[in-house]
Amino acid sequence: MQAKLTNREETPGLLVCEFESEPGFSFQPGEYIQIVLEGGDKRYFSVMSSPKELPRFKIGTRPSESVFKKTLRSMKFETEVQINGPWGDLVLPYDSKERSYYFVAGGIGVTPFLSMIKYKTELFLPYELSLLYFCGGVPLFKFDLENWANQSNKTRILFIHEPISADTIKRRLVGDYAKSIFMVAGPPGFVNKVLNILQEIGIQPQNIVHESYTGYN
Ligand SMILES: Cc1cc2nc3c(=O)[nH]c(=O)nc-3n(C[C@H](O)[C@H](O)[C@H](O)COP(=O)(O)OP(=O)(O)OC[C@H]3O[C@@H](n4cnc5c(N)ncnc54)[C@H](O)[C@@H]3O)c2cc1C
Repeated sequence: MQAKLTNREETPGLLVCEFESEPGFSFQPGEYIQIVLEGGDKRYFSVMSSPKELPRFKIGTRPSESVFKKTLRSMKFETEVQINGPWGDLVLPYDSKERSYYFVAGGIGVTPFLSMIKYKTELFLPYELSLLYFCGGVPLFKFDLENWANQSNKTRILFIHEPISADTIKRRLVGDYAKSIFMVAGPPGFVNKVLNILQEIGIQPQNIVHESYTGYN
C-alpha cells in the first residue's frame, strides 16, 4: 500500500508526520505499521491518529540522526512511501463494561494510546481507563491528552515524573485493579521493568498486553 506525506510538525524532541493513504487502508486504534522509504530503509511506528481521520493518518517519533529520520524530516510533501501492516496486540477494546483498563506508557511509547484514547472519546466508550504516562521531561501531547480527559470522567491521565518502581505504579491504581487489563508500550528496558513490577504486584499474565519499541535500546 502506498501513502504520501501530507504534513509534518517538528517541535523539540518530537516529529509528527501525517500521510494520506491509498483507498483501502484501515487500522484498529493501537496498531502499528511499517514505513518503507524509497531505497528500502524501514521502521515500525504506531499510528497515533484516530481511524476517523482516514485516509489521513499520523505517526509520532523522536527525531534522531539516523538516515531514516533525516529523510523523514526533509522529505518533500507528496513524496510516496510504502506502508505495510497494520499489526499489533495493543488494540482498543470496544465492549467492556465490567473491566477497567490501565495504559502504561514510557516516553514516545504513548503513541498507540493517543489513537486509542482519542477514539474512545469520539465513540463515548463507557469503560474506565487510566493512562500512566512516565515522561522524563515535558509530556508529549499534553494538551490533547488533557482535552480528552476533560471530555470523559472515565478517562484519567496521569503524567508521572518519578522513576518507575512498584510504588510509583501501585499508588496510581484504584479499585479492584487486579481484574483490570494492563497495556504497556515503550522502549524495551521500560517495558521489561513494567512487566516485572506488574508481576510483583500480582497482575496475572493473561491481563497484560505489551509492545516493545525495539530500535530504542
Ligand atoms: C511495534 C513497534 C512500534 C513502534 N512504534 C514507534 C513509534 O510510534 N514511534 C517511534 O518513535 N518509534 C517506534 N518504534 C521504534 C522505531 O521503529 C525505531 O526503531 C525508532 O524510532 C528508532 O529509529 P531510528 O531511526 O532513530 O533508529 P537508529 O538510531 O537508526 O537505530 C538504531 C539501531 O537499531 C536498528 N533498528 C531500528 N529499528 C529497529 C527495530 N524496530 N528492531 C530492531 N532493530 C532496529 C537500526 O538498524 C540501528 O542499527 C516502534 C517499534 C516497534 C517494534
